[in-house]
Amino acid sequence: MTAHAKGAVLKARLDYVEKFFGEAGCSRLFASLSPDARAAIEHGVLISSWYPVSLYVEMLIAIDRLFGKGDLELCRVMGNYSARVGLSSVYESFGKQRDAHFANRMTPILWKQYYDTGEMQAEAVGEGKAIVRVRDFPEPHRALCLGTLGWLQAANEIWGVQGAQVTEEKCMALGDPHCEFIVTRKGRKAS
Ligand SMILES: [Zn+2]
Repeated sequence: MTAHAKGAVLKARLDYVEKFFGEAGCSRLFASLSPDARAAIEHGVLISSWYPVSLYVEMLIAIDRLFGKGDLELCRVMGNYSARVGLSSVYESFGKQRDAHFANRMTPILWKQYYDTGEMQAEAVGEGKAIVRVRDFPEPHRALCLGTLGWLQAANEIWGVQGAQVTEEKCMALGDPHCEFIVTRKGRKAS
């Protein structure tokens, strides 16, 4: 089974490259991709279309190698950034309902908008901790998980938990049966 990511997810990363590295950065990125990947995204990404996850991962690795250190850390940064940009409008709609676990109730719903396979589930463990698991994703990759980690951290902060900390304790890309993210908070709940 081929997994797909929504065009909006790819576009958020291209927007990041354009914002911080300019059109020249985008040109460098496109030039570094395989011919198929380049042809698929060079002339614009349709935000409501599905793209193969393999293409998305190729793009992430290329961005990290060109503009980061090649350690995939930039994938986490871009996940964090895309949540801050993309969730601000949702935050406006749901701002009054937010609580310590609001982000973790919302993220499994958003997962289905971003990927056409796999399932994310969140479990509250006490007031200040949650376990977020991802299962049944056929093409796991650390570049994707680091993006999810950064995204979860920003979502938790935007939706009411100051000082949210997220770690990934298990990972399908490292041979575990599922991915497991632990969300804790160091600060107090935002008012
Ligand atoms: Zn993982």
